[in-house]
Amino acid sequence: MQTEHTIAGIRAALAPRRKQGERIGFVPTMGALHEGHAALIRRARNECDVVAVSIFVNPTQFGPQEDFERYPRTLEADCALCEHEGVNVLFCPSASIMYPEGYATYVAVERLSEPLCGRSRPGHFRGVATVVLKLFNIVAPDVAYFGWKDAQQLILIRRMTEDLNLPIEIVGVETVREPDGLAMSSRNRYLDPESRRRAPALYEALLQARRAFEQEGVTDCSALAQQIRNHIAQHTGGRIDYVEIVSLDQLQPLTSVQKGNTLIALAVHLGGARLIDNIRL
Ligand code: AMP
Repeated sequence: MQTEHTIAGIRAALAPRRKQGERIGFVPTMGALHEGHAALIRRARNECDVVAVSIFVNPTQFGPQEDFERYPRTLEADCALCEHEGVNVLFCPSASIMYPEGYATYVAVERLSEPLCGRSRPGHFRGVATVVLKLFNIVAPDVAYFGWKDAQQLILIRRMTEDLNLPIEIVGVETVREPDGLAMSSRNRYLDPESRRRAPALYEALLQARRAFEQEGVTDCSALAQQIRNHIAQHTGGRIDYVEIVSLDQLQPLTSVQKGNTLIALAVHLGGARLIDNIRL
């Protein structure tokens, strides 16, 4: 595995492979890699000739009161995981390489960046879209892999790619979970033992809503959302940021479940962590 820290370096590493007509798969990450990231890398490994991974804790997607400083940085273990999964090129730029003095350009994906996490994290998706577009321009992959764990991010990146005519295929990979159902996340390590014990109730609440829809025929979104809130309140004691049921294509609130076009998404503050999860109906 080749590790590159500069834009010229990663471009030089990939140029000859591209010239030979090899298919380049790209997995952008913020590091602190776990089995969720590994699933994206494996999918890329299966479908592409060359796998490029980036590790960059992107300052522009963190709010001033958020966890940029304390975000876990585990570069040595990350390199070992990438090596083990057959990554060809690892790109680890510094903040000053990505945002040099005088940097002034940002990407706004309108509407899709406003609801859900956009409401409680103003500027977050502007930072995400900006860094992903920059990484796409630097790596120039044929295909890029994103997790459904961050459903709003995936939907927004798909929109940006289409709107800006980027010749890149965007692949969504299903959420990888701990055996007890908790969605894997780099932020799970913020959880104290008691909160970690309670955290699976978030996914339980989502599964209960799926059962209510599929088995009992409940289609009313406010009833489903209320049921989810009740379960989370009873079983976690966490502070709910949002529980919302929206359309998958537009992220607009739904009154009634539209089969095949429904996203149930939530964010909950629990014992020092802000956890997100979602399911699709
Ligand atoms: P992050 O390092 O958290 O920015 O995530 C990098 C990529 O990994 C994003 O596309 C995430 O959606 C994806 N990802 C993170 N956690 C999971 C998970 N548990 N299952 C699947 N994909 C994930």
